[in-house]
Amino acid sequence: MRKTALLLLVATCFQIFCLPIQQSFAQGPSDPVPADVLDSDAYFRRTVQRPRLRDHTAQIEALLKKMTLEEKVGQMTQLEIGLVTSGSDQNVAIDPAKVEKAIAQYKVGSILNVNGQALSVDKWHDIIGALQDAAQRTRLKIPVIYGIDSIHGANYVRDATLFPQEIGMAASWNPALVERAQEITAMETRAAAIPWSFSPVLDIGRQPLWPRFWETFGEDPYLASVLGTAFVRGLEGTDVSNDKNVASSLKHYMGYSYPLSGRDRTPAWIPENYLREYFLPTFAAAVKAGARTVMVNSAEINGVPGHINRHILTDILKDELGFDGFVVSDWQDIQKLVTQWKVAADEKEATRMAIMAGIDMSMVPSSYSFSDNLVALVKEGKVPMSRIDDAVRRILRVKYQLGLFENPMPSPSVKSNFGKPEYAQASLQAARETMTLLKNDGNILPLAKNKKVLVTGPTADSLISLNNGWTWVWQGSEPSLFPTNKMTIQQAIEEKVGKKNFEFRQGTRIVRPPNSPSNGTPTDMDEEVNVKDAVNEAKDADVVVLCLGEGSYTETPGNITDLTLPETQLRFAEQIIATGKPVVVVLVEGRPRLISRIADRIPAILMAYNPSSEGGQAIADVLFGDYNPSGRLPFTYPRTPNNYLTYDHKLFETQETSFGNSATSPQFEFGTGLSYTTFNYSDLVVTPTTATVNAPVNVSVKLTNTGRRAGKQTAILYVRDEVASLTPAGKRVKRFAKVYLEPGQSKTLTFTLNRDDLSFIGSDNKPVVEPGDFTVMVGGLSQKFTLR
Ligand code: BGC
Repeated sequence: MRKTALLLLVATCFQIFCLPIQQSFAQGPSDPVPADVLDSDAYFRRTVQRPRLRDHTAQIEALLKKMTLEEKVGQMTQLEIGLVTSGSDQNVAIDPAKVEKAIAQYKVGSILNVNGQALSVDKWHDIIGALQDAAQRTRLKIPVIYGIDSIHGANYVRDATLFPQEIGMAASWNPALVERAQEITAMETRAAAIPWSFSPVLDIGRQPLWPRFWETFGEDPYLASVLGTAFVRGLEGTDVSNDKNVASSLKHYMGYSYPLSGRDRTPAWIPENYLREYFLPTFAAAVKAGARTVMVNSAEINGVPGHINRHILTDILKDELGFDGFVVSDWQDIQKLVTQWKVAADEKEATRMAIMAGIDMSMVPSSYSFSDNLVALVKEGKVPMSRIDDAVRRILRVKYQLGLFENPMPSPSVKSNFGKPEYAQASLQAARETMTLLKNDGNILPLAKNKKVLVTGPTADSLISLNNGWTWVWQGSEPSLFPTNKMTIQQAIEEKVGKKNFEFRQGTRIVRPPNSPSNGTPTDMDEEVNVKDAVNEAKDADVVVLCLGEGSYTETPGNITDLTLPETQLRFAEQIIATGKPVVVVLVEGRPRLISRIADRIPAILMAYNPSSEGGQAIADVLFGDYNPSGRLPFTYPRTPNNYLTYDHKLFETQETSFGNSATSPQFEFGTGLSYTTFNYSDLVVTPTTATVNAPVNVSVKLTNTGRRAGKQTAILYVRDEVASLTPAGKRVKRFAKVYLEPGQSKTLTFTLNRDDLSFIGSDNKPVVEPGDFTVMVGGLSQKFTLR
């Protein structure tokens, strides 16, 4: 009797949880983006190959000779759209009197942003056409360069294709995917006649409280460097003058992402060796890849505001890295040297300090004070003409390279590059590849489609949460602007399982405090929405999909004082868990909100980050087994509020202390990411075992799909320097490879490590390779070699 009951239980479990295993996956060789990145370094070397740009020196020098001081300073000035238009949102229109002042009188060379919300392609053509037309009527006809923040797609162009935010793209460990997303972003940005994007963010996400954590590629400098160059390559292509490409802007150079307090635009303390070790590599690689512009750290490091840091802007960026594009300030940051940082008594002095430090263009952006001050400073001999000429040369160079001199007027033909159906497919593919399965006890996932599912929680029905900031408006907070054909999580799940097996209850909601403007909202609040009803519904369901996380935010409005998931959500989760039903948690969030209070009682957790427009679909595909997840966490998910270790911490930091007060282990380690199949690593071979400094070290490892489904796996290769003159990290990522394997299939991965991979930045701020023992680690295997 007992035996029959057991058999029945096993059969039911099989039906609920295992049946989808039979389904095949729409992934692998048929993906629009190559499934395999066989060696991150090979890809990296290709993307850092600088594209050949035409040399415009003769034209630039000729033009420079003709320019007056006022014309030169005008080129160095960037104003916001409100200084050339009237009205806001969709009613924004060129204001001829304002244009006359900006372009004819002040000879302003650059304009940025939107006034309120994203504009249609046609509207952009009208605005930029009118600005270029005005520029053509000036004496020297120097075209205007317009820039916007195309952070995850051309998000300031109405109906553009939006992609997962950078933090999710990092979890894909797929540079080809990043490059493709940016090719599309470039086409759609340029389709709106805009030649310049303020992206990528190449800050390193090592401070999880920071409200722009999700704009980064996570905590590892190598991963972020590979993906950052792929981003730049996607945007700029091999010829940035092409009407399918735009100039990138590497930001926010550098150290912005590591504030001690976790709050936006607050001080960081980073000694130069660590600056070079952790924060410079992404920028150095992207400069090498040919990036045309750089935007500056809006905060301070070691007491020096980013905008007056001559060592970083001029000595390192321009002299050492040989950057020949231009450096743009961040928003109002010269004025903030007076009002916020208090390193200058007045704006004129602040202007002198910033220009002499190496700023080439000032995002002023809402007044003419910069131009007036700079003209006066040059006339008084306080800023030499050579510095002005250097800045203007750089700006003109980029304008020439973008083809703006040849084709200043927006061409209507570029509009046809906007909104092609395959773009949405690429976004869906990207969203699927970002999905990171953090926990799957008892293989509760994938779920069967014929069981009753309750979907609930604050992010279950929210395109705002799926997208986060920089979506149609700065804070991503305007529900009315989202396209109506994009599904939230609950809508996608309903489509998957059908009405009969589906219930949705809100449970709790993330709300904006009353009267908060869409531009600049204070921190969201959570409120309950008929929790009792949701809990009762859970009792009737076979499984509950509980969607937790955050609303939308970026920059200072996103500051928080506690990384813990809000109390309202935790309490709600506990009530759902108390029903005893299996609970699957989906995290839709831009930073790792702490969930240790509930995590152990939840069998399955899917990290979705901010997967954007196709995210609802991608989440449903993974939950119900139509897609086999392959994301790996690009940061360390902390367990407790005051224990933020990165994966590359020093070994002693987590060793047991004799006082019994050791550090806690993270909730989820960097690199966590489960699959619906299993993988095995074997045969790790490192040759030679005794190496010399300048000869390569070869590593090979065999990876086998030992499960019953096809799937992708990213192999991550770590190296530890066992003994070093500066306390060594426990391990550092040096290579990765993402491969697609059929069940039973094996591939042998090979990597070559060279001198640079074994070096670190020494106390003299220079790279050093020190002989001794090294350990190579891949997929739980390790091998030592000795460097002579
Ligand atoms: C942000 C930048 C952005 C700029 C223009 C600033 O507040 O820090 O990332 O590019 O605004 O929108």
